[in-house]
This record gives sequence, C-alpha cells and structure tokens, in this order.
Amino acid sequence: MTRLVEQLGQLPGIGPKSAQRLAFYIINMPEEKVKSLSQTMVDARENVHYCKECTTFTDGELCPICSNPKRDHGVIMVVENPRDLAAYEKTGQYNGVYHVLHGAISPMLGIGPADIRLRELMQRLAGDVSEVIIATNKNLEGDATATYISKLVKPMNIKVSRIASGVPVGGNLEYIDEVTLLRALEGRTEL
Ligand code: ZN
Repeated sequence: MTRLVEQLGQLPGIGPKSAQRLAFYIINMPEEKVKSLSQTMVDARENVHYCKECTTFTDGELCPICSNPKRDHGVIMVVENPRDLAAYEKTGQYNGVYHVLHGAISPMLGIGPADIRLRELMQRLAGDVSEVIIATNKNLEGDATATYISKLVKPMNIKVSRIASGVPVGGNLEYIDEVTLLRALEGRTEL
C-alpha cells in the first residue's frame, strides 16, 4: 500500500492526499479491472510513439491526420501539445495538418528552442508548405515561441499567421470551447 501511494504520488498533479485516495480506490476495485488498467498502461507505453511527420502521439508510423490524403498538407498548424491538437480536431472545421512542439520556449524555466520539436518543423517547411498557423497558447511562453518561429519562417517566403486573441490571455487551448477556437482560427493575423 505504501509503495502504491508513493508511486501514484510521482504522477503530475497528484499530491499525497490524492495519491492515498487513488490507492484506496484501486485496492477496492475488482481485481479484473485493476489488471486491465495496468495492462492498458503497459500497452500504451509500448505501442505509442511520435508521428514521423507532426510528432503527435500515435500507434502507427504516421498519425491518422498525417496519413489522410484529404487533408491539406500545405497548411501546418503549430500547437504546443497533443491536447491542443485534439481540441482543434474536435471543431471538425480545420482541414490542414499539425505540428506538435511538445512544449514552448521559456527562458524562465530554461527551455530553449532546441528543447522543443522545432527542428522537425523546419525540416517539414523545406517541402511544399503555403502557410504556418501558430496556435501556441496566449501567454508569455506561447508568445515567445510564436515570435521565434515567425522569425525563422518569414525568410522562407511562407505565410505565417498567429491565431487571434479571441483566446483569453493566459488561456490553455484545451479548456476553450470550440466556437472560441474557431473564431481565433478564422481571425488569425499575419505576422
Ligand atoms: Zn502526424
């Protein structure tokens, strides 16, 4: 029991109290369900990796979006994480593809351009790309990342835009409703 509480407490956002609550919940679960849960975790860790194109999580070589020929592969929306990608996908209105940075530039936290998936983005831009839409979060880190990317992309003669400020300041994209997300996308401004 102590070991379980200890290990659960190592998960992000789980304090000692939550870890204890979860541990009690787990030992009261039917044994079959616990086995299924732990096996699902093992399977996910073994089978899920980064998409070769956009670096989102997938169990194939390419994610379903990158391997879809009906998507516009010339328009790339840059997001901070797979959760933001999922939020935009839920709107069902965006037909381009994505690039997942897995973070944002933050001098305060010591996260530089080399620590996020920027190199992979630049490699993709060598191909046939007409627009890069920067949809990083509307906060200090997201803005710094957007500025950095636009400076890199502009000299390549590719249109660079930033989603509109319909997204509340400091807002995490994943918590924003679909209408607001669509408005932010449609109202994007060229950088
Ligand atoms: Zn992909």
